[in-house]
Amino acid sequence: MDCLFCKIIAGEIPSKKVYEDAHCYAFYDINPQAETHFLVVPKTHLASANEITAENAAEIAHIFTVIPKICKDLGLESYRIINNCGAGAGQTVLHLHFHVLSGSNLGERLV
Ligand code: AMP
Ligand code: ZN
Repeated sequence: MDCLFCKIIAGEIPSKKVYEDAHCYAFYDINPQAETHFLVVPKTHLASANEITAENAAEIAHIFTVIPKICKDLGLESYRIINNCGAGAGQTVLHLHFHVLSGSNLGERLV
């Protein structure tokens, strides 16, 4: 499949891995928007949050158990989780991903 993040998961395109297990992969964003900025993706290809269903929801819930563990390991007490769903919300890579941002430059505003 011609998907950037599927290729990263497969190791066909290099990435700076933060965490990996059977169901998800986390890696640093190539263009960080905060002091710490990594992405967490399900290993199953889902184009966006619009493709989350009752059948695959456990895989997404798993990601939300992994994020606190990664942040604890990285010593991050405060962080922001963002998902852009659809081009109008800024989604540029059509493989579901959650941005995790942390650092002193995070403001209180969401947009
Ligand atoms: P979004 O705009 O929400 O779809 O987020 C896509 C993110 O992927 C952006 O923050 C990009 O900087 C990031 N990105 C694109 N290509 C790579 C890559 N090869 N390795 C790591 N991050 C990437
Ligand atoms: Zn993919």
